[in-house]
Amino acid sequence: MYRPQVETSSLDRLRGVLESGWIGLGPVTEQFEQELANSDMVGKYPVAVNSGTAALHLALVVANVPKGSAIIVPANTFVSTASVALQHQCRVILADIERATGNIDMASVREILDTEPDVSAVIAVHYSGIPCDIAGLNELSKEYGVTVVEDCAHAIGSRWQGRPMSESPHIQAYSFHATKSLAVGEGGCVTFPDAVSAERAKRLRRLGIDMGARSWGNPYDIPELGFKYNMGDIAAAVGLAQLEALQDKLRKRRSIVRRYRERLAGSPVELVREADDSDRSGGFAVPVLVKDRERVRIELDSAGIESEIYFRPLGDFPLGATRHTPVAERFSRDVICLPIHPLLSLDEIDYVCDRLGECVA
Ligand SMILES: *Cc1c(COP(=O)(O)O)cnc(C)c1O
Repeated sequence: MYRPQVETSSLDRLRGVLESGWIGLGPVTEQFEQELANSDMVGKYPVAVNSGTAALHLALVVANVPKGSAIIVPANTFVSTASVALQHQCRVILADIERATGNIDMASVREILDTEPDVSAVIAVHYSGIPCDIAGLNELSKEYGVTVVEDCAHAIGSRWQGRPMSESPHIQAYSFHATKSLAVGEGGCVTFPDAVSAERAKRLRRLGIDMGARSWGNPYDIPELGFKYNMGDIAAAVGLAQLEALQDKLRKRRSIVRRYRERLAGSPVELVREADDSDRSGGFAVPVLVKDRERVRIELDSAGIESEIYFRPLGDFPLGATRHTPVAERFSRDVICLPIHPLLSLDEIDYVCDRLGECVA
């Protein structure tokens, strides 16, 4: 399923940090952020943190989402997308998804906005790397006065309407967890459309500390209390090495996605894919829908093929969210995510497709 390909150059970069006399948050993290700011990477004003979950939470704080309000999240996502809303003392409302893309269903979002007066934000997820309707979310945000945050944990290398993800007007949160396309181990970043918000996030990620007025008698000020969310230079060194090879790895992921789609087209396997040709998945995962999923998964397993279930619907978990999401529930019973990582060969993908074809025949 996963195999993080760690660049050997990370050893040299790590040695540099470990021998430098400074291994905490410092110049290497800053350099990592500068390189991330390239629009081919994540763009905007990136703030490096210690997880994608921290990035999502910081996004809600810096966007001034009011505590005690409600936040809409799709039912088909990792638990972090919703747990940060609770952490921010908000209520979670689950939106249903589209079966074709696995992404948040805009009609479901609108229905919630029309009936729940206390909604202040929507966290949308680009499921498996497939872009959700960013323009539609932007319209809803203007019409209803709600904040939109994008969970981009899967979306590095994705494009929407032929454009890089960074051209979205919203705050975006990325994860560099061990299984993600830019694997640092633990880490993430949150990107803002403006420098002022990014500066505030840089204080809040380290307990709110402001070194601006530092003097002999005053180590720091804390104008606003924050969290212990900062990345450090050890992780940033690995991140910089991973960025060097990112474009090659993304190209490999896209060629794997193409191969799966070519080989599975016309079979009983239902591909989950972009709504429009101008959108492109970065290839974090390859979700497909099948009948009799448990049997198919067991047969794949006995042919030496690992697979994953992304995701159990959030209604299953103790989040206090009670709204029914029938499409997400059905999707979760039918979905299989197939192996994808840059070390897989196209022959191996063909092997997976052949076995899968036999299972569903
Ligand atoms: C991985 C993931 C996260 C959280 O990332 P961490 O770095 O593990 O905190 C958030 N949302 C989604 C959809 C994810 O897959």
